[in-house]
Amino acid sequence: MAVRVNPELIDDLQHFGAKDAVKCYQCGNCSAACSHSDDPYVFPRKSMRYLQMGLEKPLRSALDPWLCYYCGKCSEQCPRGAEPGETMMGVRRWLTSEYDFTGISRLLYRSWSSELMAILVVAALTGVGFLSYGYLGGGGKLSVYDGPGAFLPPHAIHVFDWTMGIILALLLSINCIRMWHFTMRNEHATPVRPALYVRYLLLLPVHFFTQKRFRHCENKTPWTNHLILMLSYLTMLTLIMVFLKQMQEGPQVNWYAHTFGYLSAMGLVGTTIFAIHGRIKKDAAYHRHSHESDWMFLGLLLFVSVTGIVQHILHRAGLPMAANITYVVHLMGVVPMLALEVPFSKWSHLAYRPLAIYFAQLQQAAQAEGALPFGGPAEAHPAA
Ligand code: SF4
Ligand code: SF4
Repeated sequence: MAVRVNPELIDDLQHFGAKDAVKCYQCGNCSAACSHSDDPYVFPRKSMRYLQMGLEKPLRSALDPWLCYYCGKCSEQCPRGAEPGETMMGVRRWLTSEYDFTGISRLLYRSWSSELMAILVVAALTGVGFLSYGYLGGGGKLSVYDGPGAFLPPHAIHVFDWTMGIILALLLSINCIRMWHFTMRNEHATPVRPALYVRYLLLLPVHFFTQKRFRHCENKTPWTNHLILMLSYLTMLTLIMVFLKQMQEGPQVNWYAHTFGYLSAMGLVGTTIFAIHGRIKKDAAYHRHSHESDWMFLGLLLFVSVTGIVQHILHRAGLPMAANITYVVHLMGVVPMLALEVPFSKWSHLAYRPLAIYFAQLQQAAQAEGALPFGGPAEAHPAA
């Protein structure tokens, strides 16, 4: 079968952060060092090879990049400074843009000015939208934070949150289906019986919530931080989507709801500051390189966390007007963070990684049953 080569692939990937892959001379040290690399998912060497040879289609249909957790061990072992860990990160960004049917992800990852512009435009629209609602649509007053006459009543925010959540979930679901199509329906993939999809379904929530494979990395720090960040984020998301009324009432503290809010705020701020500090100091292999999108993401996360805390304090301090203004500013960070990061950028990996683990397990189970790949008996790939 003819193999189509894209000679511009390696240049294209540079925009996504894979800047040193060209230095790789295929010694295989990185794959030997990686505690997740195992047959048939031997990485990062194989992905480096696909990249160097311009094998775009095999790279697009690979699950390996999502099985990497970017602990950085392979980069420390690379004798050529080819930064395999960062290359895998760059490939994941590229894959995210390939799965995205809108082309927005590609635009955001390839151009920091486009990403910044998109954030500012969405933030401005959000600010104008909520101020207009507060002054014109809701019949509330800027000097009232909660209860009757509130400037931004919880029920209105609740409707907005759920509408946005459903739209983002739909966009991400379409991208996940495209991932399935690329990785599970190519000629090298093995057909999987529907019953197997059901049998291994539990892998999805298990790996989504625990990220437990990450524990096998020698360096446990990134796993701990990632877990705290993710659990904090999910706790905050649950509070906002389900318990917004309890979170917003006051000014007295509602300990049942706010205790979780305080814990999650501490987790978000602590892990974000740790990541920013690490990226400035470049104190570990996984912090040595920062793509522009990493800074935008961390900046948004810190902005949202700090404005959320300030808004909460102002409300408890009996300053409703200042709390309302800070609330609008806070939402001007929340909306672009969710609208751009969930379906098109960083946060989407929370869906793609568990899916990749699930798909990899399905492939192995189908092969164990003796099923043949769509394209016939497996042949050694030219890059393997
Ligand atoms: S990335 Fe480095 S360690 Fe891995 S195969 Fe290439 S040269 Fe060897
Ligand atoms: S960064 Fe860590 S998990 Fe990823 S390929 Fe390298 S050693 Fe493996």
